[in-house]
Amino acid sequence: NPMESDYDVIYKVLVIGESYVGKTSLINSMRHETYTRNLMPTVGVDFVNQDYDVDGHRVRLQIWDTAGQERFRDINKFMYRGTKGLLLVFDITDKNTFDSINYWMRTLAEADIDSEEVIIVGNKCDLWWQRKIKLAAAEKLAKYHSSKYFETSAKENTNVTELFSQMAYDLVEAN
Ligand code: GDP
Ligand code: MG
Repeated sequence: NPMESDYDVIYKVLVIGESYVGKTSLINSMRHETYTRNLMPTVGVDFVNQDYDVDGHRVRLQIWDTAGQERFRDINKFMYRGTKGLLLVFDITDKNTFDSINYWMRTLAEADIDSEEVIIVGNKCDLWWQRKIKLAAAEKLAKYHSSKYFETSAKENTNVTELFSQMAYDLVEAN
């Protein structure tokens, strides 16, 4: 039946974080695209759909990439409308991007942006020899913000599928 929807529920998920941490690469990696091949625009926002089966629920994540909104004053509040999940990404080799997590959390709270699920993501874990942020420090920060923590490599496709599946699972649990 063409009138029948191919999903039961749809959740909007936003990927945010500083420039160059690998937001676009993570989405491309999740889509099993070559991580260097930019499918997403480098400015503005766009989204891709990814479907999951969570205990028999057909869940569609509508995943929005962001760019050029790295400073909160540039964030268009409408972009956050209806957002259920946030992936807050930093780069484990760049301490500034880690420090910015607190800044993001504070500004989201101040703007009354209330999502149901926030996962903090330490990307570029393939560059372990350049690591600036210890795993324990990242886990501590995530715990402080009542978030889960994932370490990923968009380049090597490490833990990327797990990350997005976890978001789908958590959103079903929360709803
Ligand atoms: P965005 O600005 O947050 O969307 O970041 P991009 O996805 O454009 O990635 C910024 C740069 O980091 C690019 O040169 C990517 O190839 C690189 N990059 C992204 N993810 C990884 C990763 O997991 N490992 C490594 N080594 N490089 C990555
Ligand atoms: Mg990008």
